Amino acid sequence: MTDRCNYKCVYCRTGNEGAQYTELPIADYLRMVRVLVSLGIEKVRLTGGEPLLRTGLVDFVTDLARLRTAFHPDGAPATEENPGRPLDLALTTNGHLLAPLAEPLANAGLNRVTVSMDAVDPDIFARITRVPGSYDRVLAGVRAAQAAGLGPVKVNCVLLRGFNEGQIVPFAEFSRREGVVVRFIEFMPLEEDRSWTPQTVVPMDEILARLNAWRPSCSTPAGLVELPQNSASETARRYTFADGIGEIGIIAPVSHPFCGHCSRVRITSDGALRTCLFSQSDHDLHALIRRGADDRELAAWIRGVVHQKEARHHIGEPGFLKPSRNMVHIGG
Ligand code: SAM
Repeated sequence: MTDRCNYKCVYCRTGNEGAQYTELPIADYLRMVRVLVSLGIEKVRLTGGEPLLRTGLVDFVTDLARLRTAFHPDGAPATEENPGRPLDLALTTNGHLLAPLAEPLANAGLNRVTVSMDAVDPDIFARITRVPGSYDRVLAGVRAAQAAGLGPVKVNCVLLRGFNEGQIVPFAEFSRREGVVVRFIEFMPLEEDRSWTPQTVVPMDEILARLNAWRPSCSTPAGLVELPQNSASETARRYTFADGIGEIGIIAPVSHPFCGHCSRVRITSDGALRTCLFSQSDHDLHALIRRGADDRELAAWIRGVVHQKEARHHIGEPGFLKPSRNMVHIGG
């Protein structure tokens, strides 16, 4: 919804560059979502940049919550007599502005929130976000979201060698204490300053080894217990502990790619459709709207684009080319 952000996370943006892409009127995003929903999209995630910086977000959620899926779970088309289900509406945010907005967003129809938190130690957190005092703001946002019924809140932590790999066990404690799902994400080459190297990635096997060696309490034996997947296109492998308290997800696009199960498409703030985080180019959906295309034309065009979705990313392979945009300009 925007590529502006109020944080300067060391692995994402330098903070020297401001927003680079246009923001569209929210009505244009609503129209694009409506057309995508008519084609079978059922989950919508609002992200950025920092989506809470956009005014009109709560009203946008209200409008999205009125939409219904185009198909029933058995594949039968929804009809007027037998309408589809509400969409699954989620938001990814750094949480800085979340505390006062959590309840209005929940009342508007938002289902779930993911908050990005890369440390549970306030000093390490501020070193990563480069915003003093940010930890307490974000923690308040997480708690407000839980209280507003947007839970279980997912907390995303990108692990970065030399910065926060020592936070793995403290995050597991945090999950158990706060009742949130903590998800560790492998660092991908999508940063503004091109600092990614394979050595900066903390791989899934290392995260598992650290958590498997940990005893959550003196009465709980060490060792993670794997949980079943929620859906075929789920990106995270899910775990709990022997006593069932806490949930850990691991998203490992670098060491264990899941491209074959990926059913995502993204729309950027300026209205480009992206079929992969690592796409070498975008498809300008908004250009069609500017030319006056009707919804049927938009739908036909989207189908054609999605048929060209990349088979996989090529991270770590010789000849890997950096994508045409960085994460902050795409939306994670
Ligand atoms: N500003 C919001 C936030 O902080 O959640 C939404 C946008 S942010 C780009 C979305 C997610 O992408 C965050 O969880 C962030 O940690 C993650 N992210 C950013 N750069 C990444 C990278 N190079 N590799 C993996 N995840 C990244």
